Amino acid sequence: MTSPRMARFHPLEVATVHLETPDAIVVGFRIPPALQEEYAFTHGQYVTLKLTVNGEELRRSYSICSSPLDPHELRIAVKQVKGGRASTELVSKLKQGMTLDVMTPMGNFTTALDAGKARHFVAFAAGSGITPILSILKTVLRSEPKSRFTLFYGNTDSDRIIFRKKLDELKAQHGDRLAVHHILSQGKDEDALFNGRITKDKAKQLLSRFVADTLDKEFFICGPEQMMVNVSEALEGMGADKKTIHVELFSSPVTNEAKKAPVEVGEGAFTGTAQVKVIMDGRETLLTMDASGDSVLDVALDAGVDVPFACKGAVCCTCKARVVEGKVEMAMNYALTDEEVADGYVLTCQTHPRSATLTIDYDQH
Ligand SMILES: Cc1cc2nc3c(=O)[nH]c(=O)nc-3n(C[C@H](O)[C@H](O)[C@H](O)COP(=O)(O)OP(=O)(O)OC[C@H]3O[C@@H](n4cnc5c(N)ncnc54)[C@H](O)[C@@H]3O)c2cc1C
Repeated sequence: MTSPRMARFHPLEVATVHLETPDAIVVGFRIPPALQEEYAFTHGQYVTLKLTVNGEELRRSYSICSSPLDPHELRIAVKQVKGGRASTELVSKLKQGMTLDVMTPMGNFTTALDAGKARHFVAFAAGSGITPILSILKTVLRSEPKSRFTLFYGNTDSDRIIFRKKLDELKAQHGDRLAVHHILSQGKDEDALFNGRITKDKAKQLLSRFVADTLDKEFFICGPEQMMVNVSEALEGMGADKKTIHVELFSSPVTNEAKKAPVEVGEGAFTGTAQVKVIMDGRETLLTMDASGDSVLDVALDAGVDVPFACKGAVCCTCKARVVEGKVEMAMNYALTDEEVADGYVLTCQTHPRSATLTIDYDQH
């Protein structure tokens, strides 16, 4: 999704914090009336938090679990990662009344909704991957009264199921328009299909039993990288159109199956020194950078330009900008759609010049 709104941090008060499972919290932010427009969001988007842990400034993204149909609520869920710096700090220390630096919402893990359509949405979530899916699910069920939603939700055991109660409530509210199938890696269900990890074979069996075919459907996958690879392969094997498969990664891929080849925006090889004009907040800064050196984002940050960023690993799109002139290459991209790349958008944390001059506009976000 392309929005003209600038990416900015604002200090927001934590209105609510509750322990959802032994290692996950749900956090609600108070949005002052003057900032309501800046924090308007689309189902499936995320916010980035800036926090200091042991003297180190960290930026971490968290998907919004509330629905844009409830605009006064902006809630996220944070699951503690073993040894994780930001998630441990948040889960163990965050209290109501504290203030956090929160960037305005962004992200592409979404699809346009249409009240006239009768569609079947199918999602695979695992662990904290339920967060954007919950926002999508709630919004779909209320915005498309003729559509239905099937969720396959993987967790280690039933104690760790984030939003279990909420999902039960939604099932009661929406009847057979919502189906939720829990798959527990340490489960002991009589039907073995609901126990164990979501492998490619299990994904195929689940889809065959509960979804039948891949025609006229929208698929959303959010969870660990291996599950994303397994489910995507199962869907593609069953003939799903790639355009209907939406994927959100929470961390940079480590397996080769998930790795993507570099993406060229423009044509031609270039290996010299480039003059790069960076536009941010209407201001132009001229940078000299080596085509085989650091990314545009890192060079801009080193030069003191306050450009937005979060993961620096090609999975979020916080550092997105548009190439207005010149050619570039992106080392990796897991966040931008093919249409955005065709429109000249890049993840600047992955962008290297491939022409002697280049203009990158962060104001076209
Ligand atoms: C677009 C986007 C949306 C996200 N939404 C959510 C969300 O809704 N809820 C949520 O809890 N998290 C979400 N994340 C992940 C979150 O941003 C952090 O990466 C996560 O909280 C870990 O940060 P940390 O500082 O605690 O761990 P770090 O200190 O960065 O990492 C410590 C160790 O944990 C590993 N690690 C890092 N991240 C993960 C991970 N996600 N899963 C498993 N191992 C990991 C690292 O490899 C490292 O070894 C999202 C990420 C992105 C990019």
